[in-house]
Order: sequence, then C-alpha cells, then structure tokens
Amino acid sequence: MENMKSTEYMERTEQYVLHTYNRFSAVFESGEGVWLTDVDGKKYLDFGAGIAVFALGYGNKAYEEALNQQIGKLIHTSNLYYSVPLADAAEKLVKKSGMDKVFFTNSGTEAIEGAIKAARKYAYLKDGSTDHEIIAMNNSFHGRSMGALSVTGNPHYQEAFKPLIGGIRFADFNDFESVKAQVNEKTCAILLEPVQGEGGIYPAAPEFLKGLRALCDERDILLIFDEIQCGMGRCGSWFVWQKYGVQPDIMTSAKALGCGIPVGAFLLNEKTAKASLVPGDHGTTYGGNPLACAAVSKVFDLFEELNVIDHVNEIAPYLEQKLDELVAKYDFLTERRGMGLMQGLAVEGRPAGEIVTKALENGLVVMSAGGNVIRLVPPLIIEKADVDEMIQRLEKSF
Ligand SMILES: *Cc1c(COP(=O)(O)O)cnc(C)c1O
Repeated sequence: MENMKSTEYMERTEQYVLHTYNRFSAVFESGEGVWLTDVDGKKYLDFGAGIAVFALGYGNKAYEEALNQQIGKLIHTSNLYYSVPLADAAEKLVKKSGMDKVFFTNSGTEAIEGAIKAARKYAYLKDGSTDHEIIAMNNSFHGRSMGALSVTGNPHYQEAFKPLIGGIRFADFNDFESVKAQVNEKTCAILLEPVQGEGGIYPAAPEFLKGLRALCDERDILLIFDEIQCGMGRCGSWFVWQKYGVQPDIMTSAKALGCGIPVGAFLLNEKTAKASLVPGDHGTTYGGNPLACAAVSKVFDLFEELNVIDHVNEIAPYLEQKLDELVAKYDFLTERRGMGLMQGLAVEGRPAGEIVTKALENGLVVMSAGGNVIRLVPPLIIEKADVDEMIQRLEKSF
C-alpha cells in the first residue's frame, strides 16, 4: 500500500507507452539540487542526472527563470529566421568548444546524423565519389536513428534493423593498429567517443588520440569526436578534446548541453565548415529553437558563474578516492575507470543491474553501463557530503 501512487502511474504507463524500456520502479515527481522525490514522497540521491544530462542539479532558479522568460517571449520560430537566443547560444558554444561553426539539433542521435552527413559531403566535394567509408569503434554508442545506429559498435543493437547505412568499418578502441588496418582511399572519417560511455566508461589513451590525429592529418581524413556524454564539463574541461590537446574536425554535443531541454549540436572546424554542408543539404524544424537556445545560453552562463569546471576538478579526486576504496574492499569490484565526474565500477561475478536496482530501493540513483559496470554520472554540482552519502547507500546495496 506504501507505493500506491507509484503503482497506479506505472501501470498506466505500461498500458499506453510502447514497451521499449524495462523501467525501474520509480515515478519521479520533483527534484531539488541532487535529490529527486517520487510521487510517494520517497527521496533519492541522484548520481545519474537523467543519464548525464542534469549537470546543474534540479531546481536551479536562475536556469528556470531564463526558461520562463523565454517562454513568455517566444518558444519557436523555425530556422527560416534569426533569433536572439540562437545568436547567443551559438557564440557561447563555439567559443567554449574551440570549434568554428555549429548546427543545433534536438538530440544526440541527430547530432551524429549531421556529423556523418558533413563528413560525407566534405569527401564528396573532394573527389565526387559516393562510396566513402567511416571507421567507428567497437563497443561504442552513438544513438538509435539509422545512421547513428550504423556507427554504433554493438551488434545486439543493430541486428534486427539491417540493412544499415553502408560504408562503415569497425576498429578497436585504444588500438591504433586496428584503426590503421581499416583505412583505405575511401575513408572519409574516423568517429569515436573520447571517453566511451554506454560501452562501460573507457577513457581513450592519450597516444591513441594523438595517433589518430596524425593519421587523419596525413590522409585528409576527418576526425569526429562524440562528446555527447563526456563533454560539457563532466570530465574536468569544457570538452574532453581540450584535456587531451587533440582537436577533432567535427564534434558532437547533447545531454548536458541544455541541462534537460532537449537539444544537441554538431560543430565543425573552419576547414570542414567551408567545404561541406551548404543551404539545402541539412535542416530541422525545431533544432536550436528559441527555447532550446535560451537553455543552452543560460547553461553556459551558469557554468561560468558557478565555476562548474573548477568544481568538477576539485570534487572528482575525492569521488575517485572513495570509489578506489570500494574496489580495494570488495572482491566483486575489479576496477574503477573514468575521468572527472564520469566514473564506472567494473563488477565481476554478479550483475551490475542487480546492484543498481537494490540501490534504487535504498534511495540512490545510479545506472549501469555495458560490460557489467556501475556508472556514476552525477550532477556536476555535487559536494563531498553527497559522495559520502552515495558511498554509504551503495555499500548498503552490495
Ligand atoms: C546518449 C548518447 C548519444 C545519443 O543521444 P540521444 O540524445 O539519446 O539521441 C550519442 N552518443 C553518445 C556518446 C551518447 O552518450
């Protein structure tokens, strides 16, 4: 009887919503800071942030005020016209990312679609042929639309939906020779996440990224970084490429970009921007609309005001230390991997999903990732006390 309200909503959801998710038994209703509350009044410490989205935590008044103001002015205009928030958001994102041009989308998967199209067009303009290839990584994740699915190195996600888009080859992440072995005269791009997320939280080795950059420069291949999950401050710099000092030609962003308002982006450097997509090549009705861009613009302002990047660099070593202590203490935890506030605990001998379910019962939101990993991607505003509380609730769930 205790979960009466939750049960009613869960039943109604299952009746009407297509069953493509095995949802956890929680109906969240409100949030404050790093805490979520469900419809029965139970509180949860959130170390998932809606899959690395809600970087600023819940209920940030300045963020909500900016959205409310924009709703009061103008929500949508289409991309046939200019808007104030578009100019603001584009300038801030381009400057912080170190890229030169941006195209706003509604999601991460659409950002990947745009990146693929830009790369193909760039190669097409060079030699006029239409059989170019893209090298993507095994164990990667880039989204669920057909193009993004085609470059997602997970056969389980792809199988039933074939034929996928053609000209995709796969290599092993952090194995430079395996990438090199796939390169030929048709290769137009190499695509990867600098820190693999869904695949199980694997940061790239610095030499791997440097090797790819040199290879791409030598053969005029475009290097594409998918920073949808790892970017936007999560790993301790605005974007992960800045930490490695290896700049991509094309970069994608989404998730924390709008901190909850659905928005993504792909960005190009000057070289790619000036020789790829032109009017008529690509478009979107909603992408980068005034409401979405007001969110993006405010997110950048708040990241600066709250010194979010510095805060991540301050708190992440503490989180790492506490997680390392768990790995030392429990035999079924084999490794901690990650960067900044994107961390994973590799689990052996029992399903990580069971621990995640148990954690939810204990009022802790964590997620799993591929390869039997407990994934921690909290709001970027967490404090040491939140880390301590998380550790306590997680241990209880073991
Ligand atoms: C989540 C994710 C995507 C897909 O983003 P959606 O907004 O779900 O379409 C693509 N790439 C990476 C690395 C992601 O983590």
